[in-house]
Amino acid sequence: MNNFPQPPLYYPNIPEKTLKDFLSKNPLVTCLNSNKSIEYLMSHLREKSLNCSHFRYYADRVIRIILETAIVIQELKNIKKESPLGYYDALETQAPLENYCAVTILRAGNSFLQELLHLFPGIPLGQVLVQRNEESKEKEPVFYFSKLPKNINKMKVLLCDPMVGTGGSLCITLKHLIEKGVKEEDITVLALIGCCEGIEKIYKAHPKVKMVIGFIDGDLLKQSKYIVPGLGDFGDRYFGTA
Ligand code: URA
Repeated sequence: MNNFPQPPLYYPNIPEKTLKDFLSKNPLVTCLNSNKSIEYLMSHLREKSLNCSHFRYYADRVIRIILETAIVIQELKNIKKESPLGYYDALETQAPLENYCAVTILRAGNSFLQELLHLFPGIPLGQVLVQRNEESKEKEPVFYFSKLPKNINKMKVLLCDPMVGTGGSLCITLKHLIEKGVKEEDITVLALIGCCEGIEKIYKAHPKVKMVIGFIDGDLLKQSKYIVPGLGDFGDRYFGTA
């Protein structure tokens, strides 16, 4: 081995046809690859030289779009409402927003807190600690801790984890939520970036969950388990611990 720098690698976006086929097999996934605002914000977010405050700034903007999307993919009803000029056609969620809670997977999932509290100031917040064994990235993550709203079994859950890599932490958290009585169909997984491998693993175990993913990327590196093109370690970049 020498110490010369490695040549830069190039990871293109997932081909359109691959993504289209994947989404037709996984109809409960809403991905925003074709949304230009997301593509633009992701272009900043992925950049290696972005400092922590700018990383947070762009991540929060993506998270806000993901949260807004998560609401409108729920069951909606058409109603008539009154504007200052007369009646108009309006959309509302079937379940009132008071029936929603959010669960973040520590540590990276806590990056959703700022925008969650901005958009839904009174939303109950649960937290789950699930961690991968850092010495052996192959191993499944381990469940350590959770603190959830008492009546979570009657709620709709926004489950927040920014990167769907292997899908291991999400699978363990989903199993835990379901053991606590949450209905699979009442859970929406929210992430900034995912890859097909992780998403497929989740759907194999939990076929009724919904997902909103900012961008589906092309690959998961075998050794490091990082998504590519991806953005590196989301938690370290968002919390300034890189
Ligand atoms: N978690 C991260 O922070 N980045 C990845 O690429 C995958 C999982």
